[in-house]
Amino acid sequence: MEIACLDLEGVLVPEIWIEFAKKTGIEELKATTRDIPDYDVLMKQRLRILDQHGLKLKDIQEVIATLKPLDGAVEFVDWLRERFQVIILSDTFYEFSQPLMRQLGFPTLFCHRLITDENDRVVDYKLRQADPKRQSIRALQTIYYRTIAAGDSYNDTTMLAEADAGILFHAPQNVIDEFPQFPAVHTYEDLKKEFIKASNRNLTL
Ligand SMILES: [Mg+2]
Repeated sequence: MEIACLDLEGVLVPEIWIEFAKKTGIEELKATTRDIPDYDVLMKQRLRILDQHGLKLKDIQEVIATLKPLDGAVEFVDWLRERFQVIILSDTFYEFSQPLMRQLGFPTLFCHRLITDENDRVVDYKLRQADPKRQSIRALQTIYYRTIAAGDSYNDTTMLAEADAGILFHAPQNVIDEFPQFPAVHTYEDLKKEFIKASNRNLTL
């Protein structure tokens, strides 16, 4: 049996924090791990900013609900689910991704969790585990699934390496250069072809 594992942000939907920052006009929320490498420091800063602007989880979800999956993503996920079991392995949070997952037909998602208080204020976050994408691939291998994974960035590379086949999709040039062992494609049509190539079954487009 084969499972397709997909990253979410940059692969099926836009970068949620960046788009949220654009929609709300809150410049400081555009910071990413490229600006603040310590993820915990970055997340605590994001939560503080949300609080300063009086944004409750419901307000945040309303903004995120105005975002759309990337062009062609819905069709691609439908195509993939006809041919593979599909799991999305993401570093986002269930509470943030919900409005976008609805538009994708709620495929299975492994990610992290936000913690809110009784007033719907986001007070903290809970990571599911360390190196979660790679650990998920390893877990699937222990139940004898063959895994094919696709992602766009550094946080996907341990998942791509652990999987039976790894594919870079929409990756920036520096990631492509640093990881030449993975095929790199930029359109859903080419990504479908890579999944067919990586499969050990005779699949067609
Ligand atoms: Mg990504």
